[in-house]
Amino acid sequence: MNTDTPTFAICDLFTSVQGEGGMMGRPFVFVRFWGCPLSCPWCDEPRHRNPAFRRILSLAECIHALEHQTPGLNNILLTGGEPLAAPHLATLVNRLKERGKWVAMETSGVGGNIPENLDWITLSPKTPLPHFPVHRASEIKFVLGDEADAEQENWIQWWMSRHDTIWLQPRWQGANFPATAAHRCLRKVLASGGRLRLSLQIHKWLGIP
Ligand code: SF4
Repeated sequence: MNTDTPTFAICDLFTSVQGEGGMMGRPFVFVRFWGCPLSCPWCDEPRHRNPAFRRILSLAECIHALEHQTPGLNNILLTGGEPLAAPHLATLVNRLKERGKWVAMETSGVGGNIPENLDWITLSPKTPLPHFPVHRASEIKFVLGDEADAEQENWIQWWMSRHDTIWLQPRWQGANFPATAAHRCLRKVLASGGRLRLSLQIHKWLGIP
């Protein structure tokens, strides 16, 4: 491998349907980046921290893998871990756009600059993001646990005053449907005057990645 070429730390590459938010039901080739600058205690993607799953791909290898994963499927979803933490993310997005791909990204908003030509950005704040360019987010998604969280409530209110598309999603822990968190989300959605939406992660119901 030429060490001058951009490289990417990847932990998963697979085809599935998006199970949540506004792209629910749409098929994508998912690329899950290894590593994340945050350490959420409830993180349900442990492979992105496990060195055993860290694969380094060159830009060309990454493009090749994405193009050959499911030939003809042009939707690509960059997720993690944290895609923004990949140093050459903008280069990868540019190459994918040159090849006619429709490129979405899921991010916590922490880790680096947002590439210019993404088609869809799902922002899932885990921290206050006072300087995040609000207009770049296609949708906002908050993941709620069983218990009320005053700090998170403040972020939700902050984003509700700035963005029209905000999803609340219960936090799964293991394979069991998180009924308490789901009803907490549902109560807030029903009381929101139509401002909030409920996301239930259909891929988890289907038992697919
Ligand atoms: S931001 Fe997402 S990937 Fe990173 S630690 Fe938190 S839940 Fe896990």
